[in-house]
Amino acid sequence: MQNCLFCKIANKEAPAEIVYEDEKIIAFKDIHPKAPLHLLIVPKKHIQSVDHLESKDQRLMGELFLATQKIARGKKLKGYKLIINVGRPAGQLIDHLHLHLLSGEPVQLP
Ligand code: 5GP
Ligand code: ZN
Repeated sequence: MQNCLFCKIANKEAPAEIVYEDEKIIAFKDIHPKAPLHLLIVPKKHIQSVDHLESKDQRLMGELFLATQKIARGKKLKGYKLIINVGRPAGQLIDHLHLHLLSGEPVQLP
């Protein structure tokens, strides 16, 4: 989608420190990390938020979590926290569905 930052990153039209990529998913470092490891794991398809999912996205959401597992295993993480903000009141600033992976130290939640 035009003017969507995460679509631009997925299309390599904006820079990011990419740590994982496959046909449907891309993962990169958050620019303002809130933990020693803070990744954003993103379906390349533009979906505004969890609230905008349709039943046809069911498989893609499974792939999002399996890519997350693959990344965590690849980095030999002992544990991690996953956060998805849905909507502005919950702190979603980028309107392209994404999953935060935080690891390394306790995370201060709002
Ligand atoms: P949200 O608040 O929408 O759940 O999360 C958006 C995240 O995107 C924030 O943690 C923010 O630090 C991150 N972010 C915002 N702009 C950029 C950027 O240009 N590059 C990267 N890598 N992360 C960004
Ligand atoms: Zn997008």
